[in-house]
This record gives sequence, C-alpha cells and structure tokens, in this order.
Amino acid sequence: MAYRLLGRLVYGSRYDRIPWAQRVYVRPGERLVREAQWQLLTTRAPVMELTDYRRLRPLKANEEFLACMMCGESRQQPLFEPSGNGWHYHVVRCPSCGFLYRNPNILPERLGDLYATGYNSFLTGSYAANRQRRYELTMNAFSPVFDEGKGRRLLDFGSGAGLFLELAERRGFDACGVDLSPESVARANERLSRARAYFGAPEDVPEIAAGGFDVITLWSVLAHLPRPLDDFRGFRRLLAPGGVLLILTVNAQSLLLKAYGPAWSGFTRNHLMFYSSWTVRTLLRRAGFAGVAFAPHYGDTVEAGTTALTRPLRRRLRRTVDLSDGGNMMRVLAFADEEAIGRWGGALTVHRLSR
Ligand SMILES: [Zn+2]
Repeated sequence: MAYRLLGRLVYGSRYDRIPWAQRVYVRPGERLVREAQWQLLTTRAPVMELTDYRRLRPLKANEEFLACMMCGESRQQPLFEPSGNGWHYHVVRCPSCGFLYRNPNILPERLGDLYATGYNSFLTGSYAANRQRRYELTMNAFSPVFDEGKGRRLLDFGSGAGLFLELAERRGFDACGVDLSPESVARANERLSRARAYFGAPEDVPEIAAGGFDVITLWSVLAHLPRPLDDFRGFRRLLAPGGVLLILTVNAQSLLLKAYGPAWSGFTRNHLMFYSSWTVRTLLRRAGFAGVAFAPHYGDTVEAGTTALTRPLRRRLRRTVDLSDGGNMMRVLAFADEEAIGRWGGALTVHRLSR
C-alpha cells in the first residue's frame, strides 16, 4: 500500500493504464529501486542452520525438509510465505548459491497429491491458444533449432494435453510425450495424429527409455520437479549426440518477484523450486551438459506485437529486461555436447559449462 502511494507520488497517473506486469519494467528508475529492495531483503533475512529451521516449521505427512539441491548448502534463509486459495508454503533462499525453493518440500512419492483433481480442466479454449502462442514465440527465439523437424526425434517431458506435441508434429518432428496424468495422456492422444503421448516416467516406456532424442522439451515443468538432478541426468542420457534440451520456466530473477515478493505470479500452488540463469547453469553442469544459451523473455504480447505499449515504452521494457536479466519467464537452450554447440549454437551466445 505504501509503495502504491509512493508510486503515485513519484509517477503521477501516467502509467495507470499499463498492466501491473509491465509497469515495473517501464517506469523510470524502478529497476534500480526494486533491485536495491531485493538486495536489502536478502542481506537482512536471517541465515539459519537446517536443524533450527526444522524446529520452526510444522511438517505435513507428505513433506520433507531439504538442503539446497544445487550446491548442498544446508543453511536456510526464510524469505516468503506465499498463499492462495486453500494452499500456502514457505520459500527459502540458499545463502551460498541463491537458489530459491520451497521448504518443507513435497516428498517425490507424494507428488501425485498436488495433481489429484481438476488439473486438466483448464487446458482448453483461450488458455490453449495463449499457450501455443507462447510455444511458437519460444521456438522462434531459438531459431533454427525448431524450424525443421523432419527426420528428428523429439520428447516432450510433461506433455499435458498435447498442446506442444501438436505444434511439434506440424513442424515435422517425430514426436512423443510423457505425462503423469492419465487423463491428460488420453486427451493428448485424441488431439494428435502422428505424435503419441504415454503415461508414466521415461524409463517406463521402452521406446522412450531407448533414448536417441535430438530434442527434449520442458514447458513449465522444471519448477515442478522434486528431484531435478536425477531427472536431468536422465535427460542427458536420453539425448543423442548433438542433442538439445529446451526449458521454459518462471525466472527467480524476475523484476516482478523483486517488486511483489510473496504475491509474485511464479509462486503457484504446485511450484517447488525457482531457478535463475545462474542456478539453472549449476543444474545443467552437474547433469553433464556442455553449454547453455538464454533468450530473454519480454512478455508474450510484446513479442507477438499485440501489446498496447507505445514504441518508446516497448523499447524501455526490453532494455530493463536485458539489464536486470529480469524477465518474468526464463527460456533456456541446453547443449548436450560440443557437437550440439557446433550445430545449433551459431546465432546464440553460448556459455560453456566446465566440469
Ligand atoms: Zn545452494
């Protein structure tokens, strides 16, 4: 509330018609204020031993306490307690590497509890159209990786109702998907013609477990994984020489997180871990990937050219995202090996992940 009043005082009514999700990026000086605010928050938050932290929080039957999955640090920095309709959880920061995660977290074997009912019902209509636009924009950002799928095998991990598989088969990929919701898999297979979705984990399906994929995609899946390192070592094994892995996930460096804290849109009911361009590098390096490239996310309406922002404001938004590495989503292309970097890295800035 105080910030709202302050905002009104500093900026007047000039930015009132700009949606909240864009306002933070276009008001002059706001980036620096939000970054300073974040700096203050993370230096002031107490750092606690895990044993002390455990005493502080009740533990439900389907939960466990974690140390940092990226660097092994056990100390905890309690930051936020996001909540919504019928849920709430605690988010901590690793004081060593900055990784943000839910603690306590869900026991991997109880992950199904989060998806028990109704998860599938909203995957249709305008939601579906918006999702597919987002997939197209992301594929374009990493052109030419997704331009021509003919003769290439693609695995969509967490394929849901098949919205991406539909686009992949249209681009010529020999595509398949896996998902843990049997309803979603059935829906996907109704939608698809050549591509196929399977129920289960990759190792449960012989034609997937055999590997040899040229592309693996994770659309809004990474934040849901309770054992990311195990999964990523598995993905690395499933990739053919020259293969790439695409990730779209919420960005833990988002300027919107810095501005809105526990009310940030990335803190959803089922998200478990929150990655930045730094912590995702750790994950990829430890899983055996050779390199990584990023495509900053300016927002779907800006990239699709349908935003109401004026041209100067669009420019300012892009500059703010670039300077802060603070887009609300993160788009990542990981390269399995040197061959992949040679084949697909050409137009991109590739960071090598030394072991
Ligand atoms: Zn850490």
